[in-house]
Amino acid sequence: MTDKDTAFQNEPSCRSDHDPRSLPVEAAWERIRTVIEPVHGTERVTVRQALGRVLAAPVQSSINVPAQDNAAMDGYALRGADIPAAGTQTLACVGTVLAGASFTRAMQPGECVRIMTGAPIPPGADTVVMQENVQCAGRQITIQAAETPGQNVRPAGEDLLQGDTVLMAGQRVGPAELGMLGSLGLVEVPVYRRVRVAFFSTGDELRIAGSTLEPGQIYDSNRYTLFAALQRLGVEATDMGVVADDPHVMEQAFTDAASFADAIITSGGVSVGEADFVKEIMGRLGEVAFWKIAMRPGRPLAFGTIGQARFFGLPGNPVSVVATWYQIVQPALRRLMGEDPQPPMTFRVRTANALRKRPGRTEFQRGVLSRDGDGELVVTTTGSQGSGILRSVSLANCFIVLPHDGGDVAAGSRVEVQPFEGVMG
Ligand code: AMP
Ligand code: MG
Repeated sequence: MTDKDTAFQNEPSCRSDHDPRSLPVEAAWERIRTVIEPVHGTERVTVRQALGRVLAAPVQSSINVPAQDNAAMDGYALRGADIPAAGTQTLACVGTVLAGASFTRAMQPGECVRIMTGAPIPPGADTVVMQENVQCAGRQITIQAAETPGQNVRPAGEDLLQGDTVLMAGQRVGPAELGMLGSLGLVEVPVYRRVRVAFFSTGDELRIAGSTLEPGQIYDSNRYTLFAALQRLGVEATDMGVVADDPHVMEQAFTDAASFADAIITSGGVSVGEADFVKEIMGRLGEVAFWKIAMRPGRPLAFGTIGQARFFGLPGNPVSVVATWYQIVQPALRRLMGEDPQPPMTFRVRTANALRKRPGRTEFQRGVLSRDGDGELVVTTTGSQGSGILRSVSLANCFIVLPHDGGDVAAGSRVEVQPFEGVMG
């Protein structure tokens, strides 16, 4: 950890939005990327078990995929030299080759072989003519001058060439990667070990599902949000429940969590209220790397270490938990899992509404992306953006990312959005 990382330690908190000690989101991202390294420890798992895991070593192809030149269409394999310069040409059909079979006799001038998609091209042939383009009469076919030599053939190794690095260390295995591992005929692959994450909520006002609420109490929602997010990310998550706003109890919880977890995530207790003990305990047990991030919702957010464990102290407000999870914690955990995540993709669209925004922090407002009457993408705010209004997230399908230095945004102007879902999740 550098001096810069601890520069935010023990700074008095300040609620102004122009707090110069607040760390811009991009800087927080950069710092997390440099401070966090992948966990040590790898294991070999079967290909299917590798889904959602991160490769610990590059995967090289020991074969060509496909192994041989093969037909991209059902039709007739022939020598490109037999395609007539003009008019038509009649060829003798000397056999059939289905996918999975092979035709080993070299083809002579004036010959063709009936071939099915995926079947290997017979020696001597280099072209496939679609079956719809030929006229058949007994064991003869007639082709036209319009055909092109070399067409409709998938060359050996067009997908993966023998010896190529086809997947990199640090790559997360999704459906396409799993398919590639399958196409190489692999049985096992090396992956980073699972990352262990302990999480708990803090707050005397929190009650668990099934209990009756007394005045001033609320049900704990953050542990559900975090459970879901951690589950999806594919870490080994341990739910440590609700921890009271009592420094001794909290200290014990942190110590317990640090004894087995690679990362600890808490919510609540990180601001400057009477019962906000997280920062103080963190200072005692470990190191706090930075304390406030210039983002809304989400400030304050603590990041640090206790022993070997990385610590993320999220604010208590439910929307802040969602925003800090996606913008800061998830990329950090992905790094721990072995990936080198890039900032989420954003793109510019027109906003249907005017948006209120104060300079000096990056705002992650919630919006609904849709198409207007002309088919152009437009984003509409979900309305009230209070950090306690979790509905503003469940109604939304994107973050509207308003940059650090910007102010209010007029209706009709362009804003950056981050869609919640990509094509392959
Ligand atoms: P805090 O950061 O502890 O000051 O909490 C800020 C706000 O978030 C308060 O209104 C808390 O009641 C609320 N809050 C804290 N933790 C949770 C939780 N686990 N579930 C729902 N709301 C919470
Ligand atoms: Mg609290």
